[in-house]
Amino acid sequence: MSTKEAASTAPATTAAAKPDAKRPESKAIGMAFGDVWTYAPAPEARDHIKLQAKYDLFIGGKWKAPESKKYFDTISPSTEEKLAEIADASAKDVDLAVQAARTGYEKYWSKLRPLDRGKYLFRIARALQEKARELAIVETMDGGKPIKESRDVDVPLAAAHFFYYAGWADKLEHAFPGRNARALGVAGQVIPWNFPLLMAAWKLAPALAAGNTCVLKPAETTPLTALMLAQIIEEADLPPGVVNIVTGAGATGAALVGHPGVDKVAFTGSTDVGKKIQRALAGTQKKLTLELGGKAANIVFADAALDQAVEGIIGGIFFNQGHVCCAGSRLLVEEGIHEVLIRKLKDRMATIRLGDPLDKNTDIGAINSRMQLDKIRGLVAAGEAEGATRFSAPCVIPDRGYWFAPTLFTGVSQSHRIAREEIFGPVLSVLTFRTPEEAVEKANNTMYGLSAGIWTEKGAKSFWVAQRLRAGVIWANTFNKFDPSSPFGGYKESGFGREGGRQGLLAYLEVD
Ligand code: NAP
Ligand code: MG
Repeated sequence: MSTKEAASTAPATTAAAKPDAKRPESKAIGMAFGDVWTYAPAPEARDHIKLQAKYDLFIGGKWKAPESKKYFDTISPSTEEKLAEIADASAKDVDLAVQAARTGYEKYWSKLRPLDRGKYLFRIARALQEKARELAIVETMDGGKPIKESRDVDVPLAAAHFFYYAGWADKLEHAFPGRNARALGVAGQVIPWNFPLLMAAWKLAPALAAGNTCVLKPAETTPLTALMLAQIIEEADLPPGVVNIVTGAGATGAALVGHPGVDKVAFTGSTDVGKKIQRALAGTQKKLTLELGGKAANIVFADAALDQAVEGIIGGIFFNQGHVCCAGSRLLVEEGIHEVLIRKLKDRMATIRLGDPLDKNTDIGAINSRMQLDKIRGLVAAGEAEGATRFSAPCVIPDRGYWFAPTLFTGVSQSHRIAREEIFGPVLSVLTFRTPEEAVEKANNTMYGLSAGIWTEKGAKSFWVAQRLRAGVIWANTFNKFDPSSPFGGYKESGFGREGGRQGLLAYLEVD
């Protein structure tokens, strides 16, 4: 037997375990594909990763213990092992960080030539590339996403953001010709756990290029790559206080956005917390941008290239375990192709590999936290109780960690919770339509408006639909593609303001 054959017949990492009757997702539902799709284990080595036992706060260019002396654990959601202890910043620590950012702004950053600000950003971008492998592994360990995503998407895009905005730092007069653009001062930035390093880059790069200083709060469950970024910033020798990283839970975020010394608040997270922040900031002079939840429609017309659409739909909802604000969580299918498309989707779902996120062949990693898993389970149970038909891919669920098999619901009506609420997990709700008008009406029938997808061979049809969709980002014959030069943001309860592109600078500038 050749080596190739031996590899292809070796048991898969996840398939080796027995289904656990107590865990509903582990039941093999639908057809099993036998061993045809099994791969030999190909884990990324993690023994060279040297995590500290304990991480302090990065304030004023120094590492500082939290005033309360309190630390919390960050764990790996795929193994439930403790990875490190993380400082819990109180309001007092946040105050110190905001003061440091003010000093950094007045003493250093606002005095630098724009060209020199750009040089620092280029330096950070290059360091992110140099440490790409380590960052990808830590991102996967801390957050549970497959290594092929952190390696091919998160880390390269984070570096690309710094490169892109580095280029703008000395060209602001060209970004807004004939107008006068000034930095705002201190930016307070709060980010979620689904793209920890990438969201840090989305926040820091444009703010710094525009001449602001920053205090960033990463999510409680995924602080490690932001802290590694703080180390990179330290090594890049940025002036003290230009970037400050304060770790903690929601209370730390609330202390930051509510701090009177902050001139600008940038928040990415849930619509509920976004609304709270908007209320807290009402009546203040602070500038605010909100990137919130989504319930994107992926619209497939009968004339679409179906196999290509299947890949886009699968990637659009199951990519990153569905922990994507712009995930294509509602599939709108033209009635005539419903049956064939569902069959193709189920066939493709049966080949998805769920398991160790450090394995290079894994498609679906761990759900980020137990809390998020409970939320997904609750909404899926509601879908079943409301009468929709569930199909979950026949994955074997590992014994430890938080997992959810990719799941598809048919027979969904617009009033079902699974069609209205953001699940933020690998769960797809399928609805049908007969005409383009009906597709647009159903796609827009949501409180969200972040993104959408259109699949058709007819260019005129995709333009007709795109013009009528109330969504900030619309993909045609592809899904979930990002580029730093392209603005991203929502309509309605998905928030306001744009990140990325020239428009992303506006959030951090006073332009008159
Ligand atoms: P979340 O609960 O709103 O948390 C987001 C961040 O806000 C975290 O750092 C969180 O800290 C912090 N936070 C919690 N309460 C706060 C408060 N009262 N004041 C200030 N900060 C507070 O959201 P999540 O559940 O972690 O993230 C998932 C959500 O983010 C989804 O709804 C998703 O659609 C959205 N999202 C949107 C985009 C976009 O670009 N539109 C991108 C990614 C994610 P802790 O984590 O420590 O609680
Ligand atoms: Mg973690």
